[in-house]
Amino acid sequence: MIRNILRGAVLAAIFASPLAQAQQYPSKAVSIVVPFAAGGPTDTVARVMAQAMAKPLGGQLIVENRPGAGGTVAAEYTAKANPDGYTILLHHIGMSTAPSLYRTLRFSPLESFEHIGLINDVPMTLVAKPGFPAKDFKELLAYVKANKSKVSYANAGIGSASHLCGMLFMSAIETDLTTIPYKGTGPAMNDLIGGQVDFMCDQTTNTTGQIRAGKVKAYGVTSKVRVPSLKDIPTLDEQGLKGFEVGVWHAFYAPKGTPKPVVDKLVAALQESLKDPTVKQRFNDLGTDPIAQDKATPAAHRNHLKAEIEKWAPLIKKAGVYAD
Ligand code: ASP
Repeated sequence: MIRNILRGAVLAAIFASPLAQAQQYPSKAVSIVVPFAAGGPTDTVARVMAQAMAKPLGGQLIVENRPGAGGTVAAEYTAKANPDGYTILLHHIGMSTAPSLYRTLRFSPLESFEHIGLINDVPMTLVAKPGFPAKDFKELLAYVKANKSKVSYANAGIGSASHLCGMLFMSAIETDLTTIPYKGTGPAMNDLIGGQVDFMCDQTTNTTGQIRAGKVKAYGVTSKVRVPSLKDIPTLDEQGLKGFEVGVWHAFYAPKGTPKPVVDKLVAALQESLKDPTVKQRFNDLGTDPIAQDKATPAAHRNHLKAEIEKWAPLIKKAGVYAD
């Protein structure tokens, strides 16, 4: 009897051990934390990936939107989550700008996470409400310079990509506009289409459909060269903002301490999904491409993040924007 109880206890301990749990992973749904509201571009990428990764991972992935403070709420939440692989984060370039923008950050982008891999790189587009009184970029510049703070600019909070793009745009044209923060550019897009806000800069993953449907006006893309799916829209660089370039990269993170076999399974599922022709097609329709396989790795992701933190720090310092 005592021997049976002891044997039961030993077996229970073995099955509850981190190694056994990692081997059984995933035995329940994995939550992908998204730092912005549903319906926006980060959410869109997360939903494409949740669907694509289910098969290679061997389990369901669900999207959990936790907007706030330009993405830092979700990053802190994930950094402090149980490191068991059931809570992972999908974040973008904001992970590299947050350390320069926020005076207090209760997580470290490089130290609080296991880096899983990059997903894609998305250009941004400068778009305005349907009735915006400018037929091209030249007229837009003249209009915003004449009307300054009467012009409203939507963003997803300090630390978001739309904030970064707007900050660089205002600094390039030396004009301050009135910024209106949203929980994500999904809700901001609704207000833009409805004419409640004048313009914004957002990922093609959110703007391509609306531009093609004629629901918003497009004035430029933020990539070095034109975007194949939006080839009639000139780059901002070609329209006079020399060197203006913002590419929004996305990546997956797990809390620090997530067992290596679990991280390995997530990396394999990510890499497998990026080879999936449906993912490529879906991304292409949204004006983006899956990242090259050699960048969908923990080491490449970490190196890229470090380089991006170093790249943005002096530019943000120069712009003099901070949040608490
Ligand atoms: N595109 C947004 C940003 O500006 C976020 C979002 O809603 O996905 O960062």
